[in-house]
Amino acid sequence: MQWLWQLVQLCEHWLIRRGLCATFWIWTSFHLRWGCREVLYDRTSEGKTYVTGLVMTKATEKQIVKADAYVAACDVPGIHRLLPKPWREWEFFDNIYKLLGVPVVTVQLRFNGWVTEMQDLEASRQLQRAVGLDNLLYSADADFSCFADLALTSPEDYFKEGEGSLIQAVLTPGDPYMPLSNEQVVKNVHEQVLRLFPSANELEMTWSSVVKIGQSLYREAPGMDLFRPDQKTPVSNFFLSGSYTKQDYIDSMEGATLSGRQTSARINEVGPFLHDLRHKVAKTKSEASPGSATDELTFV
Ligand SMILES: Cc1cc2nc3c(=O)[nH]c(=O)nc-3n(C[C@H](O)[C@H](O)[C@H](O)COP(=O)(O)OP(=O)(O)OC[C@H]3O[C@@H](n4cnc5c(N)ncnc54)[C@H](O)[C@@H]3O)c2cc1C
Repeated sequence: MQWLWQLVQLCEHWLIRRGLCATFWIWTSFHLRWGCREVLYDRTSEGKTYVTGLVMTKATEKQIVKADAYVAACDVPGIHRLLPKPWREWEFFDNIYKLLGVPVVTVQLRFNGWVTEMQDLEASRQLQRAVGLDNLLYSADADFSCFADLALTSPEDYFKEGEGSLIQAVLTPGDPYMPLSNEQVVKNVHEQVLRLFPSANELEMTWSSVVKIGQSLYREAPGMDLFRPDQKTPVSNFFLSGSYTKQDYIDSMEGATLSGRQTSARINEVGPFLHDLRHKVAKTKSEASPGSATDELTFV
C-alpha cells in the first residue's frame, strides 16, 4: 500500500502546484527542505525597497532563489530570525518582535481502557473498540488548555488493537512545566486527567511521551493583537503568511489557512505593480548588461 500512499501524495502536490499557478497566473517553484537564511533586498531609483532574492541552504548546499513575489510563511521565532535587521526601522516590522513565542509542552498518555467513557464502565474496560468523548476537549480545571483521546478522535493513526485511550494534552503557556523532568510532567498531567475522569482511576497508564517546544505559538495577551502584522508589508514584493499574522482567528490551523488566502488576495492586488517592478529592475540591469525581461511572473 506504500506505493498507493505515495501516489496520493504526488497527486496532492500536483494539485497544490496547479492551484497556485492557476490562482496567480504565474510560475510557481517549490524548494522543499531548503531553509531560508537571508532575504536579499535593494531599492528602486524612487527609493522603494524590494526583495531581490532569498539565500537558501540545505545541508552544505546553497542557492539564491529569485522571484517577483516572496511570501514568508514562518512561525514567530522563524520570522524574527529571517527579517533583515535594518527593516526594524519600520514600525510594521518592529512590532513583529513584540510577539513572543510561548513554550508548549505536549504530553501523550496511553491507557489500558477508555478514559473519557464515564457512563458505561464495562465498555470502558474492553479493548476491541474505542469509546468515550469523540472530540477536542477543553477544561478550566487543568493545567492543559485542550486535550483529546487521539485513539478515539483519529483512530486511523492512533487506535491500536489491544490498547486503549491515547490522551494528548497540550500545556500552553507551558512555562511552569519547562524546568520539570519528563517524569514529573507525566505525573502531574496523569493526576489531572484522573481528577477530570474519576472513573479512569482503575485504568493503568501503559506508556507516555513528553515533547517540549521552547518557542511556538505567539503569547496571546491583552493588547498583543495590535502587533500582528498584515500580510502586505512595506516592502512591495515581500508578503507574510502564517497564523500569527492578522486574521479573524486565533493562532490555529484555521488561522493559518485564512492568512494564506489573505496573502494571495494581497499579491493579486499588487499584480500590476509587480509586473512594472520586474520591468524596472530588468531595465536597470540591462543598462548595465543588456538582456530582456519576460512577462511571466514567479513567486517563492
Ligand atoms: C502542540 C500544539 C498543538 C496544537 N493544536 C492545535 C489544534 O488542535 N488546533 C488548531 O487549530 N491549532 C493547533 N495548534 C496551532 C497550529 O498548529 C498552528 O497555529 C499552525 O500550525 C500554524 O501554521 P503556520 O503555517 O502559520 O505555521 P507553522 O505550522 O508553524 O509553519 C511554519 C513553518 O516555517 C518553518 N520556517 C521557519 N523559519 C524558516 C526559514 N527561515 N526557512 C524555512 N522554513 C522556515 C518552520 O520550520 C515551520 O515548519 C497547535 C500547535 C501546537 C504547537
